[in-house]
Amino acid sequence: MRDFSIARRRMVEGQVIARGITDQRVIDAMLKVPRHKFVEEALQSQAYQDAPLPIGERQTISQPYMVAVMSQSLALSGSETVLEIGTGSGYQAAVLALLADRVFSLERIPSLARRARKVLDECGFSKVNIRVADGTRGWQEMAPFDAIMVTAGAPEVPQDYLDQLAVGGRLVIPVGDRTSQVLMRITRTGAREYEDERILGCRFVPLVGSCAWQEE
Ligand code: SAH
Repeated sequence: MRDFSIARRRMVEGQVIARGITDQRVIDAMLKVPRHKFVEEALQSQAYQDAPLPIGERQTISQPYMVAVMSQSLALSGSETVLEIGTGSGYQAAVLALLADRVFSLERIPSLARRARKVLDECGFSKVNIRVADGTRGWQEMAPFDAIMVTAGAPEVPQDYLDQLAVGGRLVIPVGDRTSQVLMRITRTGAREYEDERILGCRFVPLVGSCAWQEE
């Protein structure tokens, strides 16, 4: 057994803190979650590198820095109800579980959802609720959400996310074309008022569904 905690500390110091992430709760969460458990065994030695990694089904676990930026952008204090779109490996959901009260996550590919469920349970993150569904319509029964994080790239912001955001809530979503996007943060400032900010350029796999891209 390798001691992954040293690699994890190096990742957080070198890729997260050194690049300007200051939210201590995000830093602590990323020091805790065993990222290597969320990738297949052959890739575990690469889990703490500065890169996304394949997780099967042509999908990826996001680069650690991107997880940190997106998590910090939601400005979570611990009491929130959060929706994630794109469970993937389950890693981001585990980080969110340490940052918020209730976490809901939608994944369209059943085999990924199944594996994420298993790893999250093994690592003590059973409180994460996962559902297999097209997440481009959000999760109406559980709305409103204090925060929504979309971990796949959308051609535009689906209306249901805006509707399912609580007043004061934050949505982070990569918006652009199929291969490159801008990470946007949208804050619901009133019943019909929203403010948006550009955070940084990024490259996510496409958000595929009725209100986003079609499958290729
Ligand atoms: N957050 C993940 C990274 C996911 S990669 C992690 O921490 O590992 C993006 C994921 O979004 C993929 O698993 C993909 O299958 C999923 N996805 C794409 N379109 C979706 C949709 N419409 N609804 C739900 N999940 C979707």
